[in-house]
Amino acid sequence: MVDFKSITDTTDNYNFHSHTQFCDGRADMAEFAKAAADSGFTHYGFSPHSPIPFESPCNMDFEKVDDYIEEFNRLKKLYSDRLKLYCAMEIDYIGKQWGPANPYFNTLPLDYRIGSVHFIPSAEGMVDVDGRFESFKKKMERYFDNDIRGVVESFYAQTNDMISAGGFDIIGHFDKIGHNAAHFSPGIEEEKWYETLVHDTIDNILASGVTVEINTKALADHRRFFPSRKYWKRLLDAGVTIVVNSDAHYPELIDAGRREALGLIHTRSI
Ligand SMILES: [Zn+2]
Ligand SMILES: [Zn+2]
Repeated sequence: MVDFKSITDTTDNYNFHSHTQFCDGRADMAEFAKAAADSGFTHYGFSPHSPIPFESPCNMDFEKVDDYIEEFNRLKKLYSDRLKLYCAMEIDYIGKQWGPANPYFNTLPLDYRIGSVHFIPSAEGMVDVDGRFESFKKKMERYFDNDIRGVVESFYAQTNDMISAGGFDIIGHFDKIGHNAAHFSPGIEEEKWYETLVHDTIDNILASGVTVEINTKALADHRRFFPSRKYWKRLLDAGVTIVVNSDAHYPELIDAGRREALGLIHTRSI
C-alpha cells in the first residue's frame, strides 16, 4: 500500500491520476514519464481507465492489460534513479457485479487503485454521464426523461455503493456529476437536497478511511475543482489524506491546476 500521507507531507511534486495510450490518454506512457521527470516530479502514477465488462471507447481492453504492465515495468526501471512510478488503475464502479472490489483486480500487480463513478444505470443499460455536456444533454433526454435530480441521486447512490464495497485506495472526483448537472440546471449544486447528498457521501468517505482526491483537470476550462471548493474545509478539518491530481490525458497537462489547488490548501484559502 502506498503511503500517500507521508508523500504529500513531504512534497507537492506528485500526481497519482493520469491516463495512457491504453485507455483514452492522448500520448504514450513514455511521453508522460518524460514530462513528469522533466517537470521535477518525484512520484507519478499511471491510472488508465480499467477494463469493464462491456464496450467502452474510454476503457482499457482486458487483452491490453499485460502490455500496460510490461510497459510500466520498462519505464519504472528506466526512471528508477529520479522518479518513482506507480502502476495503478482508475477502476469504474458499475454495480455489484463490477467495481474495484472485484477479485479480478487482485490478480493484477497494482500499487494502488482509484475508485471512480462515470456510469449510472438506465433501463437500457449503463450510461456514461462523465463526458462533454453536449453528449450528456442528449443522454438526459434519450435515457433519463430529462430527470436531472434522478440522475444526480443515481450518481451519488453509485458512489456510496462503491464506498461500501471498498477495494480502492483513492476516491476519484467524487462530485463530478455536479459539472454536467449544473450546466443542465444552473444552481443545482446550491440546492439543499444536492448539498445533503454530497455531505452524506463525505460522511461515508470519512468513515471508510480512503484517501480523497482533489481533481484539477477542469480548472483551466471550467474554473472548478472536484470536489467543489466549498467542501474542502470539511475534508481538511476532518484530517483525511488528500492528494491533488491532474487526471492528465496529455503530457503537457500533468501539472495543470495542481499548483493553484495546492496554493489554496497550503494557505488555507478555502
Ligand atoms: Zn475519472
Ligand atoms: Zn481519470
